[in-house]
Amino acid sequence: MSNKIAENLEIINQRIKKACLKNNRDPEEIKLLLATKTVEPERIIKAFKAGDNLIAENRIQEVMEKYDALAGYPHENHFIGHLQSNKVKFLIEHKIKCLHAMDRKRLADRLQNRLEFEDSHMDILIQVNTSYEKSKFGIAPEKALEFTKYVAKKDRLHIKGLMTIGLFSAEKEKVVPCFRLLKQLKEDIDAAQIDGVEMKELSMGMSHDFEWAIAEGATIVRVGSAVFGERPYPDSYYWNEG
Ligand SMILES: *Cc1c(COP(=O)(O)O)cnc(C)c1O
Repeated sequence: MSNKIAENLEIINQRIKKACLKNNRDPEEIKLLLATKTVEPERIIKAFKAGDNLIAENRIQEVMEKYDALAGYPHENHFIGHLQSNKVKFLIEHKIKCLHAMDRKRLADRLQNRLEFEDSHMDILIQVNTSYEKSKFGIAPEKALEFTKYVAKKDRLHIKGLMTIGLFSAEKEKVVPCFRLLKQLKEDIDAAQIDGVEMKELSMGMSHDFEWAIAEGATIVRVGSAVFGERPYPDSYYWNEG
């Protein structure tokens, strides 16, 4: 049987390189984060074997279900979904390296407390709702700086940059402003020189728009269906927890 996942990964990596070339960027600056929601461990392991060991889940339930099956393979797991603040302990227990979806004070408070308790720390990206859609999570762009300052006071949370989900549209002129706004916020926050805040990563771009995101400065692209195939439910199903 041919290995479709390895083939798809190769194609995506080529597309990333091409987008970098076109935009005068170094492909080394871009991390390909595999969005593995609904993907069973056997298929994730195929991606590991093909050389990509950076994955991300949306639902804590899936992190827990796949944990043992993946534990024997060196990899890094990020969390990119909306999380109820009473579930932060599961992130720590399952060795999540980076939370991309920090978007409210309560979540920051609870995560800091739990990390103190476990004597641990976690990388954090602040999620910004750059499309202003009511259905999307993320802090409002106007509040991003103030919120970053709030999170920065929590010594167990290491802020590494910003994350957004662009408007879900095939029209470039509607999607690109979301990415451009995130980049602008990164520069604004950088300029504020907040203690302990590193504005290095821009997590933006998915299967249908990662090339546009690279053009706008993405350093992490989150790609799922272009590698693993279409999912059985629309994304709204995964983005609204519960
Ligand atoms: C599923 C998901 C992705 C990847 O989406 P694809 O369209 O499958 O590439 C990226 N980011 C988040 C937050 C996701 O939930």
